[in-house]
Amino acid sequence: MRDTTLCVKRPQISHEGFASLAIPTYRASTIVFDSAEDYANRKYRGPDGYTYGLHGTPTSRTLEATITGLEQGLRTVLVPSGQAAITIVFLTVLMPGDSVLIPDTAYPPVAGFCENYLKPRGILFRIYDPMIGGGIADLIDDSVKLIWTESPGSSTMEIQDIPALVSAAKARGVLTGCDNTWATPLYFKPLAQDMDFSSMALTKYAGGHSDLLMGSIAVKDIDLHRRLKDTMRMIGIGVSPDDCALVLRGMETMGVRLAHSGRVALDFAKRIAARIPEDLVLHPALPNAPGHEAWKRDFTGASGVFSVVIPPHAEESLPAALTNAKTFSIGASWGGTHSLLAPMTISRATGCNAHAGTILRISVGLEDENDLWADLEPIVAAIAAGPAQANSA
Ligand SMILES: *Cc1c(COP(=O)(O)O)cnc(C)c1O
Repeated sequence: MRDTTLCVKRPQISHEGFASLAIPTYRASTIVFDSAEDYANRKYRGPDGYTYGLHGTPTSRTLEATITGLEQGLRTVLVPSGQAAITIVFLTVLMPGDSVLIPDTAYPPVAGFCENYLKPRGILFRIYDPMIGGGIADLIDDSVKLIWTESPGSSTMEIQDIPALVSAAKARGVLTGCDNTWATPLYFKPLAQDMDFSSMALTKYAGGHSDLLMGSIAVKDIDLHRRLKDTMRMIGIGVSPDDCALVLRGMETMGVRLAHSGRVALDFAKRIAARIPEDLVLHPALPNAPGHEAWKRDFTGASGVFSVVIPPHAEESLPAALTNAKTFSIGASWGGTHSLLAPMTISRATGCNAHAGTILRISVGLEDENDLWADLEPIVAAIAAGPAQANSA
C-alpha cells in the first residue's frame, strides 16, 4: 500500500491482555459491513443492531443497558435532553384527535410543548391536579391515550399517587409515563409500578457534573421500544458517544452523590422547618408535605433538591441574599456537584398549590454543609422575622 492509503487504513493492533475498567468511547457515523450481502440486509438487524452511528454504538448501548437494569425495564433509548425524553414519548404515542393528561406540576416546558406544538397539530392536552389520585378516572375520555406524571412535582414537590393513577389508566387501556429525574431509579422505579415509560433528564443526577445534556426513556415492552426508535430515526436524533461515556462515568458515583446530597438536603429542610412555618418547606420527607405518605410507601429515598416558599415579607431581601451567596451558585439545572439556588415564580392552572408565588428551589451538591448553610441562614432569618408590623412606629 502506498503512503496516502497507509494514512487512512490503520494497521491492526492486538487487544490481547488489555483489560481496562474505563468505558471505551466508540464514535461512528457510518458503520461498515463485511460483505455486500450484509450491507443489503442491514435493515434486518432490528433496533438492537448497529446500522448507523445515529442509532447507537457500543458506548450508547452500554449506557442504555445500565439504565435498563436500574429501571428494571427491557430497553432504554437515549435522546439529546430531558425535555426530548418527554416529547419523544408524546410524539410516539399520540395521534391527531388524541389527548394527553399532564400534571399541573410538570416540568414547565411540557405544557409549552403541548400548547404550542401538539395543539396546532390536533393533539390536545388537559392539565390535572397532581394530587388527584384515582380521581383521574373522571378525566379519562376516549381521546386520552397517555397520562403523564412527574413525582415529585417540579419545584413544589408534590408526590403523586402513582398506583392509583396507574390502575385508573389500566382500566381504560391508557398508557402511563413518569418523569423520574428527581428520584432516579435508585429511589423510585416507575416501571416496577407497572408504568409504561420512565424518563429521566440524565443532564441532572446521572451526568452529575453540569456539563452535558441527555435524556433517557426506559420501557418494559419491546414494541414500545421499537416505536420509540422509529420516532427517533424518522426525526433524526441520537446522542454523542462522548456524552454517553461522561454519563457512564457520572453514574459510577451517582449512588454516593445522591446519598450525600439527600442527607444534607433533608437536614437543611428540617432545620429550616424548625425556624419557619413548616408548610413553607417543600420536601417530600417532611410529614406535612403533600404526598408524604405516598413517598414513604413508594420511594426508597430522597435526593438533594427541595424548595422553600418565600412569603411576601421576605421577597424583597431575596435577590441580595442570592447575589451574596458565596458557595451556592444561582442557576436552574440542578443535580450537579455544585449547589444551586433558583428563585421560581409559580402559578398553577388548577389552583392545586396554595403556595403560588415565589419559591426558592435548593439543589444541594457536594460542598461543605456549613459553608452552604451560611448562605441559607440570611434567607431563613428573613422568613422567620415575619411580616413587619403595620404602623410599627
Ligand atoms: C431538567 C429537567 C428536565 C429537562 O431536562 P433537560 O435535559 O434540561 O432538557 C425534565 N424534567 C425534569 C424534572 C427536570 O428537572
